[in-house]
Amino acid sequence: MEYYSGQITKLIEELSRLPGIGAKSAQRLAFHIISMPEEQVDRLASSMTEARRNIRYCKECCTLTDQELCPVCRSAGRDHKTIMVVETPRDYVAYEKTGRYDGVYHVLHGAISPMLGIGPGDIKLKELMQRLQGDVNEVIIATNSSLEGETTAMYISKLIKPTGIKVSRIASGVPVGGDLENIDEVTLLRALEGRIEL
Ligand code: ZN
Repeated sequence: MEYYSGQITKLIEELSRLPGIGAKSAQRLAFHIISMPEEQVDRLASSMTEARRNIRYCKECCTLTDQELCPVCRSAGRDHKTIMVVETPRDYVAYEKTGRYDGVYHVLHGAISPMLGIGPGDIKLKELMQRLQGDVNEVIIATNSSLEGETTAMYISKLIKPTGIKVSRIASGVPVGGDLENIDEVTLLRALEGRIEL
């Protein structure tokens, strides 16, 4: 039996597909949306559609951007010969927020996980190796200190070693299993400054 009209049910269903939104929250959000002024709902809907349509990978570092290059890759003031490898765009933002890193990034969009069946070909590793054919001084591996993050770091360092480019790993100021985005800036900076050459 349907408790609500078909359209409300559909809205609740769609909302409950979002991560972290259970049936109850979806219901609450649906009723909130219905009570919102129409133009506000239009703005919400179009900002979602436009973001989805226009956001793509930065041609250089693979982070998400609405232009060909992200602001960091576009900036002439950055050291384009130092590349920090991170798992997600959120990690990129976490380091950007410290305001103390002046190199560029490479976003892998994931980490190698044999258990989940995620191999090197499933993350943006090929793109990283392509970048290394240019003029690069150092690659700083800043993947998470989870099992997957460590596996990925090891894999990348083995891949880069033969090229002669310096490879370093951020220090273990980052707690084991810790997601970079949840760690405070001081810890992030300490991890970066105390990085170890691999
Ligand atoms: Zn970029």
